Amino acid sequence: MPVDLSDDLLLAVQRPARYAGGEINTTPKDHRAVRASIALAYPDVYDIGMDYQGFHILYPMVNAHPGFAAERVFCPWPDMAAQLRRRGVPLHGLETRTPLRDFSLLGFTLQYELSYTNILEMLDLARIPLLAAERRDVFPVVLAGGPGALQPEPLAPFIDAFVIGEAEEVLMRLLAIAARHREAGTRDREAVLLEMAQVPGVYVPRFYAPDASGNVIPLRRDVPFPIRRQIFDITQETWSVRPVVPLMRTVNDRFMLEIKRGCTRGCRFCQAGMITRPMRERTPGQIIELTGEGLANTGHKEVSLMSLSSADYSALAPLMREINARHERDHVSIALSSIRVNAFDVQFADEIKRVKKTGFTFAPEAGTERLRSVINKELSDERFLNVVAHVFARGWQRLKFYFMCSLPTETDEDLRGIIDITGRSVAIGRRFWGGNFEIAVSVSPFIAKAHTPFQWEGLLPREEITRRWRLVADGLRGRNVRVRPHSPDQAWVEGVLARGGRE
Ligand code: SF4
Repeated sequence: MPVDLSDDLLLAVQRPARYAGGEINTTPKDHRAVRASIALAYPDVYDIGMDYQGFHILYPMVNAHPGFAAERVFCPWPDMAAQLRRRGVPLHGLETRTPLRDFSLLGFTLQYELSYTNILEMLDLARIPLLAAERRDVFPVVLAGGPGALQPEPLAPFIDAFVIGEAEEVLMRLLAIAARHREAGTRDREAVLLEMAQVPGVYVPRFYAPDASGNVIPLRRDVPFPIRRQIFDITQETWSVRPVVPLMRTVNDRFMLEIKRGCTRGCRFCQAGMITRPMRERTPGQIIELTGEGLANTGHKEVSLMSLSSADYSALAPLMREINARHERDHVSIALSSIRVNAFDVQFADEIKRVKKTGFTFAPEAGTERLRSVINKELSDERFLNVVAHVFARGWQRLKFYFMCSLPTETDEDLRGIIDITGRSVAIGRRFWGGNFEIAVSVSPFIAKAHTPFQWEGLLPREEITRRWRLVADGLRGRNVRVRPHSPDQAWVEGVLARGGRE
């Protein structure tokens, strides 16, 4: 039964459009007319979650199947959570307001550790028992996927099944299993989970446990081990040309198209690069065709060519030229999600600025060439400053730099290197723009991630992370530089969840 979300309730909270649904390209389906359903859950607020590319693929993919329905749900802001509790309204899907506990599957994406507590909040608001062991109803089966699923143990008590790797095929198989058991009226939750555990890439924690040394081992003979990360043929992915378009301002307002998956650069801190191999590209022809369809379906005036390292796409400059040739007259601009400095080409800047100078973000990560070598991010100061000069010269007045602090082998000299290279970039900016430009600098504390060469690096004491961050942040203060705040305390929590165990 859909919940009743009165106007009165929506008017009692900030930004009611977060909860109203009815956006462009949504697909509300009658749950009585489908065999199985999934609520795709983003454990953060709508404004952030709507920018998550994964749901722009999975949502239309599931709904393209006549027997399945997908809806979206985001973590309500505290004002809405309070209203839901006060009025006794359970958390529900945006499309049909069906309570989450009435879905076959409830699938969370684990994009960053600090969102994990929101999963518990959402389960609580949905009135689903927090602990997997305490769930008695067969459905919904609570799933989790995304990068965090490759380090699942801290969440193992709360999740029924993790999807390890790319979810496209796995999700459809899990929906098919759920459909069969729903139709058969199965009353045995364990039987459903045991069948799901046979799907390649699915890890059901209740059938495994850590041994004395902390290694996870199977508890029964009829479950697979080891469980292998799944990959998907990206060229088969065409569902994302019809993403849901929000009716309110979210963090970005653009059509996103993944041009390749994976990255082979092998930066030693980078989990994303390690867990998405091999690198797979779409052809330029497919990208051009899908871009045209996506822009027509959404009305967006910006296309973002997404990947972990877009500048490494093998035909980027000609691709951008062709997209501009087709869409420039409609004032469609191009944005690149991420540019590796060594792969930067002035042609990219020239193509981007033909319509609108969308932002440039560069991530040298460390302040000195020595430390960049340690983390395998080969980049000379000279090359970096050269690229900065090219970008300023081509009309950009706002740049973003990403650095990390507390990296392995780091000394105060490396930290002062961040201040130094930023200062030299400011000097270049002044040459072109006087005082009329800004460099936003983010210095995030390094967190060692599982499946990377740095995974066994210890977590520095909180006080030391704070000292290092302060050293850089204080040194960066000055005209034309904006330092984005980071909380070393939060980094510490993140570090614990990024490598913690089931305990
Ligand atoms: S280039 Fe970027 S995505 Fe690739 S490994 Fe390095 S940090 Fe990761």
